[in-house]
Amino acid sequence: MTPIRLALVGLGKIARDQHLPSIAADPRFELVAIVSRNAELDGVAHFTALADLLTSDVTVDAVALCTPPQPRHALAHLALAAGKHVMLEKPPGATLSEVEDLRQAAAERSLTLQTTWHSRYAIGVEPAREWLAERAIKAVRINWKEDVRVWHPGQDWIWDAGGLGVFDPAINALSIVTRILPRPFFLSKGVLHVPENKQSPIQAELDFRDAAGAPIRAELDFLQTGPQSWDIEVDTEDGQLKLTHGGAKLYIDGQLMREGPDQEYPGLYDAFAKLIADGASDVDVSPLRHVADAFLLSERVTAPAFVE
Ligand code: NAP
Repeated sequence: MTPIRLALVGLGKIARDQHLPSIAADPRFELVAIVSRNAELDGVAHFTALADLLTSDVTVDAVALCTPPQPRHALAHLALAAGKHVMLEKPPGATLSEVEDLRQAAAERSLTLQTTWHSRYAIGVEPAREWLAERAIKAVRINWKEDVRVWHPGQDWIWDAGGLGVFDPAINALSIVTRILPRPFFLSKGVLHVPENKQSPIQAELDFRDAAGAPIRAELDFLQTGPQSWDIEVDTEDGQLKLTHGGAKLYIDGQLMREGPDQEYPGLYDAFAKLIADGASDVDVSPLRHVADAFLLSERVTAPAFVE
């Protein structure tokens, strides 16, 4: 078996924490190049720009784009035009139109394009989807509350236009609920709290209804100190389902049903290898579409300046 020769673009937190170990553990991939303006990796070819890699004598079959979302479309377009398969970190773009453009570009060239939603690979998510599939939903509560100073130190891009602010983590919750809930759901109202010195929200409250009218309430907070919450509760007519720790623990009526080792990024690379082998793509924008809806429909409240 010839491994897929892979380049990583953007050697920041997620590339180091998750992509590098997942690639090293998967014999279907070989890391052959790093593209980063500032960082290098011993023993791996290094380029400061993707265009330089693509015109070099280093051959790559695929690229994984681990930059912030704002430069993602230009990088993905360049890679697809050069005939490379593309993995997009979440969110898959800064706008929905960009991702649609990439979908078409990949399809025209018969290349694989993967929008990655790592939280969907958390151990509790698929069993939650199965348990909910036949049940009538009464209400859903999403609490996604973390301390931006702990989890995103120095990430200025997160506060810029297109950086999504608190939706950078909260899109993970939306990626889970769009996977596990049996019906589509729609935003009815929202409030975005935007610091007076930033472009993106630091807190948000969103009220959705699903297609049968069940309320879905999301409370998102980037200023949570103490215990952090990445929790989703679903009340049904015959019991309550709860996912905690970002989907790593699943409870039914208070009883722990599933927990296990972190399998999210190995799961993403397994899926990427299979998509490439099958000549297929997986392009799902539904979590990003809900974020776009929140930016379209919500009221805006000016919050105190955020100082790191
Ligand atoms: P990060 O630590 O800030 O790293 C991003 C890297 O992208 C930087 O090291 C930078 O490397 C490169 N880059 C290229 N163009 C850039 C630009 N215009 N502005 C800033 N950096 C640029 O961010 P991260 O946490 O790894 O997040 C990257 C993406 O992964 C985001 O979309 C995020 O939502 C997603 N993600 C993050 C996490 C997490 O836990 N942090 C989890 C899952 C997904 P050079 O300066 O060396 O080029």
